[in-house]
Amino acid sequence: MSFTVAIVGRPNVGKSTLFNRLVGRRLALVDDQPGVTRDRREGDARLYELEFRAIDTAGLEDVTDDSLEARMRQQTERAIAEADLVLFVIDARAGVTPLDAHFADLLRRAAAKTLLIANKCEGKAAEAGLLDAYRLGLGEPLAFSAEHGLGLGDLHEVMRPYV
Ligand code: GDP
Ligand code: MG
Repeated sequence: MSFTVAIVGRPNVGKSTLFNRLVGRRLALVDDQPGVTRDRREGDARLYELEFRAIDTAGLEDVTDDSLEARMRQQTERAIAEADLVLFVIDARAGVTPLDAHFADLLRRAAAKTLLIANKCEGKAAEAGLLDAYRLGLGEPLAFSAEHGLGLGDLHEVMRPYV
């Protein structure tokens, strides 16, 4: 069984961009239980020599009658229950939002180890958000830019002890 890493966080923070960097074209087909796994992707990921399975959670395109919050909670809980390690992504340019804090509450209570990824850190606009991220109580945020490929070496350093 391969080591499983779930990428979670609110919409638009850059989860899929990170997933695409790690997985590239090694994308697996995901079974399509209606309303359950339709909006998530998984694949064989690689970060330097580390090889693991990555799960990309949540587009919320399929929102039904469930509340947004209930749906995000359900999807996140499903992913972290399967995960050996969670990458919790925030948008450092946007700062810490109430939804981020909500996710952090879930993750602090979860069994899986969580690493906090402060994405969109390629410019000065992210500096305040990066500092703000400490108050999520998930340890030191890792300054990252999924779009620009910054922080991959640091991510490797913090992931290596677990994978
Ligand atoms: P998701 O909803 O969390 O999966 O987010 P996406 O990966 O779809 O990205 C949302 C938006 O943020 C897209 O327009 C991305 O191009 C952009 N984005 C992702 N990573 C970065 C980054 O490191 N820096 C900046 N500036 N934009 C990013
Ligand atoms: Mg996405």
